[in-house]
Amino acid sequence: MSKHHSLLQSFGALLVLDADSRRIQAMSSNVAVLLGISLPNGRLPTLSSVLGKRLGQRVRYELQGQQRLPGPLTFKCPARPNRFQLHAYRAGSHVLIEIEPLHTLGKQRLLGTVNERLMRLAEATHQEELLDYLVIAVQQLTGHDRVSVCHFDSDWHGIIVAGSLATERALPGAELPVGRLPDLLGQRFPAKDFPIALRRSYERHPVRLIQDVMAPCEHLLPKEVAVDVSDCFLRAPAPERQQYLQRLGVRGALSVAMQGDAGLWGLLFCHSASAHPVTPPVRDAVRTLVQMATQRLLLLRARQEARYLQRVQDSLVLSTNNRLKPQGPYQLFTEHADTWRSLFRANGVALWVKGSVYQSGNTPKPEVISQLVTRIEKAHVHSGPWCTQETAKEPLTSSLDLLEQSGVLAVPLPTDPTQRGWLMFFRPEQVETLYWAMQPSSVPLPPMMMSPSDAWCEEVTGKSEAWQRVERLAAMDLGEDLTLAISAYEISTLNMHLERERKALAEANQRLKQLAHFDPLTQVWNRYRIEQAIDAELVAAKRYGAAFSVLLFDVDHFKQINDTLGHSVGDDVLISLARLVEGSLRGCDHLGRWGGEEFVVLATHSNMEAAEGLAERLRGLVATLEVNGLVQPITVSIGVTVWQPDDSCKTIIARADAAMYRAKRNGRNRVEITKKALQE
Ligand code: GH3
Ligand code: MG
Ligand code: MG
Repeated sequence: MSKHHSLLQSFGALLVLDADSRRIQAMSSNVAVLLGISLPNGRLPTLSSVLGKRLGQRVRYELQGQQRLPGPLTFKCPARPNRFQLHAYRAGSHVLIEIEPLHTLGKQRLLGTVNERLMRLAEATHQEELLDYLVIAVQQLTGHDRVSVCHFDSDWHGIIVAGSLATERALPGAELPVGRLPDLLGQRFPAKDFPIALRRSYERHPVRLIQDVMAPCEHLLPKEVAVDVSDCFLRAPAPERQQYLQRLGVRGALSVAMQGDAGLWGLLFCHSASAHPVTPPVRDAVRTLVQMATQRLLLLRARQEARYLQRVQDSLVLSTNNRLKPQGPYQLFTEHADTWRSLFRANGVALWVKGSVYQSGNTPKPEVISQLVTRIEKAHVHSGPWCTQETAKEPLTSSLDLLEQSGVLAVPLPTDPTQRGWLMFFRPEQVETLYWAMQPSSVPLPPMMMSPSDAWCEEVTGKSEAWQRVERLAAMDLGEDLTLAISAYEISTLNMHLERERKALAEANQRLKQLAHFDPLTQVWNRYRIEQAIDAELVAAKRYGAAFSVLLFDVDHFKQINDTLGHSVGDDVLISLARLVEGSLRGCDHLGRWGGEEFVVLATHSNMEAAEGLAERLRGLVATLEVNGLVQPITVSIGVTVWQPDDSCKTIIARADAAMYRAKRNGRNRVEITKKALQE
């Protein structure tokens, strides 16, 4: 236990009892004066001689198995006109009883005023309105010279965001009372004024009351009893705190913690230039008002943040655009960059996707953005946004030429696991003048009265406005949305490519099929295909006895056509001939090019008689063919044969071939038939 902890402020008195609440083991030296009782010389009094028998018993009874009394007990001492209030609680192996005098202010009246003020606080719709009302309400309740609300920034510097001064009671024109405290609104206190031990202690005990900084401290008698008084309202301020308040010109102080959802949001200070008593009920009322106001403040802030997030949500790409028509990064960017810039209060925004940089407003050069992306990508592996408000001091950015941009908020877009995209917001430098009520240096100042003109000014350069937590949250929402939009676009482009490739493949397949089955010059079936067809007919003929015939024909003296008129006329003849013959066949007959100027006709459901008729008809038809540049008629020699039970494709073609050669030998332009199997 540090030494000052056994020292007490003099506005109340402390009794230290044993764990059974029976015997007084130590007490503050002011007990007798406060309660107006006389003490036995040199000895500690009995509990009943101080509190009376009944009250002593009641404390003992109510503390059995309990840490503290559920509420304060009030009592009267015969020697004093006013009433007293006591708190009793356990501290280590002791029971402590704190006794404070109750003053004039009627409880009923206080309750009414407090209630009315609570209602007003609950109606506040803005932070400023709420805090302004809070400081006025507290000032009227306690009567301190000055009531202020100090809010901590992320570095634990405090800034006075609301303040109220006691209104002058003196007539207009009269001199100001000596020792009046200056208004501190807008001024800052350095973080070193709020050491971590002090902040911790505010978290455990939200109310600190110092009625008189200069009052002599009360000692515990006897001194050797070590007592933990950290829970005690009466504990004396540490000497350095005392000096600090003196330097501020403060003699009476009451401070209440404003506990936010993530640590201490701020403190409410009540200061007076002279000693200022605060009765226990008023102290409790102030505590209630501050707690209520803090809750309201957090609610207002949560609402404001929710509204902002909603605005960002409303601006999201996927909710505003047609999902069926995905847009690429460039389109998305040009359409939304202005909205994003205003939502994030940035003067420049850039989108980096796969090495492409899109920019809007004031941004660094594209190559600098790419460098920045490479650095952040390496250093910042987690999925949240990266930000700085001081690019010149930040190691990642200090060597980059970011032009006048001091603030960067970069949101990763995990569109591709190996290479993330980045959306970046830029804020310019914002030169700011800070007024410090206490110089944030370690140089001790002489005791003095502070006034706004004495405030120590600091010009802050090289910093942009800070990126708020809610802005970082919103940036993550936007990043997720943008990632989805870009991925959707990539998938749809990929699908388009796939579709194109699928079409090309189908076409290639079609071409392959054509090549496999058709003769490229005449577009009739090729030899392979006609052999397949003959094989199929053979199977059907064997099973059902359906007769079929094969005609093989060869153009007469074709060599001559080539030789005299050229190869291309020869080709034309073959094409025209194939078209003519194919066009004249029944749907169930097929024409194929056997090779060179030889063709095969497969005539299904046809016997020898029908086949011979067909051959004659074709021979006559070919003779009518007219081809440009050709004077002599084209003639063909045709060999005909009909299916025999033991046939294969080879044997049937061989018979037709034999018949065709006979036709050649017998003078050409004629039809010959082979009925029976060849004898070879
Ligand atoms: P014949 O059949 O009446 O005995 O006399 P031919 O002149 O038709 O004799 P042959 O069968 O020996 O000659 C066929 C010629 O057809 C030889 C070849 O150069 C030509 N030929 C083969 N395929 C093509 C082709 O695709 N286009 C052209 N223009 N000529 C071809
Ligand atoms: Mg020929
Ligand atoms: Mg030939």
